[in-house]
Amino acid sequence: MTRPPTRDQETRELIQRFRAKRDRRRKQRLVLGGTAAAIVLALVVAAVVLLVRGPADRAGAISTTVQTSLGSMASATSSTSVGSENGGGATTVSATLTTSTTMSESTATTVMATTTSRATTTSGATTSTSVLSTTSTSAPHAGGLVVVIDPGHQAKGDSTLEPIGPGSTEKKAKVSSGTSGVITGTPESELVLAVSLKLRDSLAAQGIEVLMTRTTQDVTLSNVQRAQMANEAGADLFVRIHADGSTDAGTRGIHVLYPASIAGWTDDIAASSKKAATLALQELIAATGAKDRGLDARSDMTGFNWSDVPVILPEIGFMTNPDEDRSLATAAYQDKIVKGLTRAILRFLGVG
Ligand SMILES: [Zn+2]
Repeated sequence: MTRPPTRDQETRELIQRFRAKRDRRRKQRLVLGGTAAAIVLALVVAAVVLLVRGPADRAGAISTTVQTSLGSMASATSSTSVGSENGGGATTVSATLTTSTTMSESTATTVMATTTSRATTTSGATTSTSVLSTTSTSAPHAGGLVVVIDPGHQAKGDSTLEPIGPGSTEKKAKVSSGTSGVITGTPESELVLAVSLKLRDSLAAQGIEVLMTRTTQDVTLSNVQRAQMANEAGADLFVRIHADGSTDAGTRGIHVLYPASIAGWTDDIAASSKKAATLALQELIAATGAKDRGLDARSDMTGFNWSDVPVILPEIGFMTNPDEDRSLATAAYQDKIVKGLTRAILRFLGVG
């Protein structure tokens, strides 16, 4: 296996932030799932104890049972967190553990207060309903869905080579400079960054967690590195936003690229990627009225071949076509693109 090229400092920091976010999300799910399970267990045991013991012992019995169960749950969660850590530094581990413990403790306190105050006046079943609804409504990112958006290119291309897939001897430039607007002169990297930032806000408003490979023009990120960011974030979908160029000024329209199935590289993501690409094309054409140029299965794209998560690359229009270049520069048309992509992504993720 060919190892990916050495990452620069900026990329390492971006990836570390991705990892930290991903790990926090995992811990939160673990803790919340564990808490809910522990509460149910504790209340079932408390109910049994209630039936066995006399009324005078009720409050004490519930408190003891809940406390014991939550205590064992908290320690189980802590050890799970350590075991699941793979690749983060020591600092990340301790920070995560602190968070988990704090969350467990604060949840335990809430449960204790609710249970003991209500135990004397109400039944265990009523308390159970109340506590569980509180826990679930306070859960962040209830769906836990993650989309990584990669605005294509960057301020300056990098013609240094990198393998087009893991272990490949075939190489391509790390990142090209892209096309530019024939009328506006806008570089592709600038246009797709603007659209990507709007898409980020649109998806975030729907409760999707969005991670960007870049939020500025001045980065040095190869296509391998971008795919690795999506992999490390555990993205439910990796969306690479690009615009097209042609030597024929009359060429116009939208098409959506997705990875062809290549054994060992993309065979595990080809079908899901095609599904996402189909939805993206459908919704983009519906939202913009642009010419439908169809889907393209590609086997030559580094950012696809290194991806372990479903990935699509919408080419949102031809910047070499005067009309489309002018349209793409307007907020109104960019909003249509964002609306179409948002609908497609939500449909792919099964949201709404
Ligand atoms: Zn491009």
